[in-house]
Amino acid sequence: RSVEGSDVQVQGTNDDAQVSKLSCSRMGYFRDEFIQYFVRRASRRSPLINRGYYSRYAALRQLLEQFITAARAAGKQPQVLVLGAGFDTTWFQMARDGGGVAPYRCLEVDFKEVTQRKAAIIAKEPALHGLLQQVAVAVAEAGAGGAADGSSSNGTGAVHIDAAAGSVHSPCYSLAPVDLRDLGALEAAAAAAGFDTQAPTYVLSECVLVYMDPGQSSPVVGWAGRTFPNALMAIYEQIRPDDAFGRQMVSNLAERGCPLKGLPATPTLEAHCARLAAGGWGAADARSMDTLYKSFLPPEERQRAERLEIFDELEEWHMIQEHYCIALGRNDRDGVLPPASVG
Ligand code: SAM
Repeated sequence: RSVEGSDVQVQGTNDDAQVSKLSCSRMGYFRDEFIQYFVRRASRRSPLINRGYYSRYAALRQLLEQFITAARAAGKQPQVLVLGAGFDTTWFQMARDGGGVAPYRCLEVDFKEVTQRKAAIIAKEPALHGLLQQVAVAVAEAGAGGAADGSSSNGTGAVHIDAAAGSVHSPCYSLAPVDLRDLGALEAAAAAAGFDTQAPTYVLSECVLVYMDPGQSSPVVGWAGRTFPNALMAIYEQIRPDDAFGRQMVSNLAERGCPLKGLPATPTLEAHCARLAAGGWGAADARSMDTLYKSFLPPEERQRAERLEIFDELEEWHMIQEHYCIALGRNDRDGVLPPASVG
């Protein structure tokens, strides 16, 4: 499949997101010492942008941690599939926090142009490939003695990084070039990464599906919903394109060559739930970030973040947060997942 002009612009949204994440980590919103390696030109973002990225980070991280805790409590090996991962560093942060223990089996996919750059950076930076190597060896040693759920690792603890191919293979973290419009390639990458379709699986799509045509993103939602009977799918993206603020948001991105092609199919929280249900997900829930920020995040953590910068754009803040949501699909055949709601 050839890369279209608009694909190149959409890949650029990844660089933009990472500049904002670096800005946040430098301001103390969250700890990410890995993101610096993925940013070519750092730039300090406004308090409004920083707080928005913080809320996105904090809500998604809380969901992921709840998922991992529940899977481990059930004696299962959790696995995480990150769609359109870009330069997301979550796996590295979680491996660091676990002191070099595998946080979960991870597969990240993105366009090849993006995964080539990511693989090259992982190969170049000792902080990244050193941590990966350390965790891979620990997984192989644990595998030799048998994992908690009896599953085995790929044995050797070997890490293969191929920057030209845009891939990383290891027993705990994999990166693969996959165009999400090609579900066969996605399925093959999951199998190659050692994914067990029956294991508890967290599927993350952070600002990705909304850049695809609805006719191409709905099948991704449906593939995940029908492939993993014990899974959560978290979708973070824009909603409400129809009011004045929403129209501005849509036109800003369109001007940059990144139209929100998927937004017409999921303009509301209800539409998000409907897409998940149509995709075979047993239960679905969706909340705006304005709601989630207040109800889902622990108040003391929120207050810590709110003291970091002077902030007087409260009206605009609520407006922005009303235009983003997290939609959650849930398949809980074996009863091993955390509660259904993000509220
Ligand atoms: N999820 C990352 C984050 O939140 O930091 C990156 C988000 S960035 C806004 C969107 C990402 O989706 C880009 O890295 C882009 O290359 C990827 N993407 C968009 N359409 C895709 C497709 N059809 N196949 C694979 N990746 C895609």
